[in-house]
Formats: sequence, structure tokens, C-alpha cells
Amino acid sequence: MLYTVALVIQTAFTPDPEFLPAIQRELDAIYAASSVHFTLHLDSPYLALGPANAVLYVNLHGACRPSLVHVHGSLAFTESQDGVIAPLIDVDCPKLSTFVGGHDVPRALARVLAHEVFHFLVQDRNHSHAGVFRSSLTHLELTSDAFALLPEDLARLQLRLSY
Ligand SMILES: [Zn+2]
Repeated sequence: MLYTVALVIQTAFTPDPEFLPAIQRELDAIYAASSVHFTLHLDSPYLALGPANAVLYVNLHGACRPSLVHVHGSLAFTESQDGVIAPLIDVDCPKLSTFVGGHDVPRALARVLAHEVFHFLVQDRNHSHAGVFRSSLTHLELTSDAFALLPEDLARLQLRLSY
């Protein structure tokens, strides 16, 4: 059975028309071997989400283009309260864009979102040793052709979604 994750994207800028579809394609590719698929929506008072098993809010802070000289600290995080991981993802988009040197920012953003969404879906703050759920994704992982969930991560995701 398909598990639909709706991402409601909040931005301070108007993204170009290919921005969200590019992110959605990459997210669906990363989760292709699972039952998870994505719908992306720009936040709006008139938003009609359609059916969804989970709704997560993604706040893109700043413009999604390189603008910083130095990049320190995390590119994104998922908020939590009392041990429960909330459906609230924050992304520092200037930092992320600078980190990948402006190279295919939608793809890099999708990969960071794939990681943060995984935190929420499995309700786990800990990380895996490799793949999408590695603790800190490298420049190479955010820009290379190959990027996937580890088989064991896929297995526990499917287990989690089945109850
Ligand atoms: Zn993480």
C-alpha cells in the first residue's frame, strides 16, 4: 500500500516552476524501493493537500542560492519535543546552496529532506553508518549520481509503516 507524505513548503521567496517538481522527483527516486511517495505543496491559505498519510512542514530559511563564505553547523534539522520528532523541518537554504557550490540545489535539498523525513517516519534521532540516514551528509553525497537508503534502513522503514 502506498504511503503518501505531503510536504508543505514555506519559503520567503517565489520558487521557479521547476523547483518543487525537481525536488519531488528526487525524493520519489530515493524512496522508490519503499511504499513512500511524496506530494509537494507551496504553503498557501488556499492549499488543498489531498489524501496524505503524513503531513510535514518544511521551512526554507533564506534564499536557495550560494551566499555565504563559510559553512558551519547543520544544514537542516527536524524539530522534536519530549522525545517525539515533530513534522517540522527547518532548512538553512543559503548554507545548503553554498555547501554544494550552487550545483543542482533542488537535488541537494531533496537529499537533505529525504534524511529529515526519515527521522520523522522512523521516530529515531540516531543515524546509520552510511546512505541517506548517515549523520552528516557530505558534499559528494549531496551532488553525486548515486544516493540511496541502506537496505536495513529500508527494512525498518517498511516495518514502521506497516503498523
Ligand atoms: Zn539526522
